[in-house]
Amino acid sequence: MEAIKRNVLLNPGPSTTTDSVKYAQVVPDICPREKEFAGLMKGLREDLVRIVHGDTDRYTSVLFCGSGTINIDVALNSLLPEGKKILIVDNGAYSTRAAEICRSYGMDHIDLTFPVDQVPDLARVEEVLAGDPDIALVHTTHMETGTGILNPIREIGALAHRYGAVFTVDTTSTYAMRPIDIEKDNIDFCMASAQKGLMAFTGLSFIVGSRAIIERSASYPTRSYYCNLYLQYEYFEKTGEMHFTPPVQTIYATLQALKEYWAEGEAGKWMRHTRVFNAINEGLDALGFRQVIRPEDRAGLVSSAIYPDDPAWSFEKVHDYCYERGFTIYPGKISTTNTFRLCALGAIDVPDIEAFFAVFRQALASTGVSVPVHYDTKE
Ligand SMILES: *Cc1c(COP(=O)(O)O)cnc(C)c1O
Repeated sequence: MEAIKRNVLLNPGPSTTTDSVKYAQVVPDICPREKEFAGLMKGLREDLVRIVHGDTDRYTSVLFCGSGTINIDVALNSLLPEGKKILIVDNGAYSTRAAEICRSYGMDHIDLTFPVDQVPDLARVEEVLAGDPDIALVHTTHMETGTGILNPIREIGALAHRYGAVFTVDTTSTYAMRPIDIEKDNIDFCMASAQKGLMAFTGLSFIVGSRAIIERSASYPTRSYYCNLYLQYEYFEKTGEMHFTPPVQTIYATLQALKEYWAEGEAGKWMRHTRVFNAINEGLDALGFRQVIRPEDRAGLVSSAIYPDDPAWSFEKVHDYCYERGFTIYPGKISTTNTFRLCALGAIDVPDIEAFFAVFRQALASTGVSVPVHYDTKE
């Protein structure tokens, strides 16, 4: 096996993968309608439930061919009964995307927005739930990847259940990294894709959740032909296969990634992401960078640094300098503040972050940005 040039991706997914996961895609051609392939998917689906500690009798996972957004689309359009309403607890770009999905299907919804640098006010969430008995579905995002803020999903889920609503959570940027317990966290459905926490590739997305609720949703309006949770679930249950062509090579890579996940272990993997995250914050602090999210509200995976007030600062120039040397940094996703992000996803460890900051410092020096970086306003 020849080593492939290793890039350190500090963007919020797809993430740096191991060579063994890359090479797992190189397999003999196979028709995914063969029994051999269906057998692989069965084990994969159960593993995806086990990662969030779900009991495989009561919880299942349903696979889709697409990037992570397909999960949000499927969950929302499939789990809303006729005449009912969705509540989106929205403090960032990914919950805003969920509200856009509601709008594009013409689904009745409340987009309950909060500032992007603050956790949602639970009293306000409860007030809205108490005031509107038509809310049948509550949706939020575990970590808003645009900023790195951690949302209190267990508490939001408890509120949703108290008012008789189903709770769906976009866990795309935390699943298989920050430990999740589907039952204790009051989650009915969570979701992710293979290219983030699992450290495999784009093309395979999945929703993990309650069989009973999926079965109940058989009678709900079918708002999409391709993106329907019940139809895909039913097909899997009957045939063990995806309704339409699965992302074959990505599934092979994901199977290898799962082996590596279990070998590293939930606790070991979370510890590694945590030390990478800490190294990123220490590096940013040492250079004087300010961040958007208060330390106590950070999910431990994404750092969102504010552009310094230095006329020499150019994200593009710094990005290009780092990129040419094998490190990818990423712009922020906030409309009101100019930020860039450094993320602790992927098969990386502390030495990668130390090597990155050596290059990043050179990038600042070579573009004439003074260090420690300067801000015009007091903190
Ligand atoms: C990455 C991500 C997604 C999926 O984005 P795609 O570009 O469709 O893969 C969805 N939600 C969150 C929170 C994410 O971080």
